[in-house]
Amino acid sequence: MNSKDLLKLVDQYGAPLYVYDADKIASQFNRLTNAFKEVPSLKLNYAAKALSNISILRFMNSLGSGLDTVSIQEVKLGLLAGFKPESIIFTPNGVSLEEIEAAASLGVQVNIDNLSILEQFGSKHPDIPVCIRINPHVMAGGNSKISVGHIDSKFGISIHQIPHLLRIVDLTKMNINGIHMHTGSDILDIDVFLYASEILFETAKNFKDLEFIDFGSGFKVPYKEGDIQTNIEELGKKLSARFNEFCKNYGRDLTLAFEPGKFLVSEAGSFLAKVNVVKQTTSTVFASVDSGFNHLIRPMLYGSSHEIINISNPTGRERYYSVVGYICETDTFGSNRRINEISEGDILCFKNAGAYCFTMASNYNSRYRPAEVLWYKGKGHLIRERETFDDILRNQVDVKSLFEAPKKEAVN
Ligand SMILES: *Cc1c(COP(=O)(O)O)cnc(C)c1O
Repeated sequence: MNSKDLLKLVDQYGAPLYVYDADKIASQFNRLTNAFKEVPSLKLNYAAKALSNISILRFMNSLGSGLDTVSIQEVKLGLLAGFKPESIIFTPNGVSLEEIEAAASLGVQVNIDNLSILEQFGSKHPDIPVCIRINPHVMAGGNSKISVGHIDSKFGISIHQIPHLLRIVDLTKMNINGIHMHTGSDILDIDVFLYASEILFETAKNFKDLEFIDFGSGFKVPYKEGDIQTNIEELGKKLSARFNEFCKNYGRDLTLAFEPGKFLVSEAGSFLAKVNVVKQTTSTVFASVDSGFNHLIRPMLYGSSHEIINISNPTGRERYYSVVGYICETDTFGSNRRINEISEGDILCFKNAGAYCFTMASNYNSRYRPAEVLWYKGKGHLIRERETFDDILRNQVDVKSLFEAPKKEAVN
């Protein structure tokens, strides 16, 4: 799809608008599948939290993907979208035993990441197979906000607790059928990832009935030309060879699983916003769009840099702009960006808007969340309507009568 298609969609559905290109999602899915074609069995479980629209989930299902979920609500969405329970893995953190039991009772593969719940679950349901999330204590990527495998991370069961873990498994007679790690977003160094994998293999040897080993995700995608990205093909070659060797020693073919979110949907997404005001101050030219961190919070939340292009004036002279939102907070999308000359009314396109963008949107400032469109086979399909004032009021309880002036008592 091109800029003209995007502009037409804005004409049709208004701004701000999220658009997702199904072809890009499919090509990323196929790229990852191809990179691991040497392993006997590969399972990609799309991480629903990246972009959880039910139509996106249906599309993932049609590609042959499984689903990685982190809440019982995501499990229910996945089931509604047509995933079989056995194609769903539930990988939450810090949730109650009841929520894990609820997922298990729906037939979903549960993944437990702490010893307390593992012990309770194993004691009550020794017959339900469980995957365990291991923390290999490896620092992946440079950003501690998105690195979740290091020593102070709240995620996973520490490798130093393996002896106790084995005691729990032994005493409860529970069945561990999978072993998992997710070191966080942004794998830059394949060797670091392979090093963490070795720790996982070492841990896996302790369990006789494994069916799969899940290496989580964290594949980095480029945000602009020349950006470093995870070399999927090289990772595929190296990890597949090592995995196959492990299976040989283990005595059985296992499934190699991943849970990519960003890798599958980030680049497929475009966020389109209209410029309300171009404002020259003494130091900067601001372009203010009809959006803010209520719609796209990643630049403000963890400093991610989304490329911004002016699709209304693609050949205009390039100038420096700070692109900001309309929220009453500092909500800078990008500072000192070279962008083709911007006029009020132009449509700016924010790239890499597929992952963790709409799913993190809110109603802050009592604004509506945007509409979403799936671009499929050369056509746009509305997959979420723009909110309306009714959505803002939904679930609010107006206790008006509490504040009404008391009626004057009748005087005889
Ligand atoms: C968020 C998450 C993922 C997806 O991570 P990406 O960086 O988007 O690929 C995978 N697994 C688990 C357990 C997660 O919490």
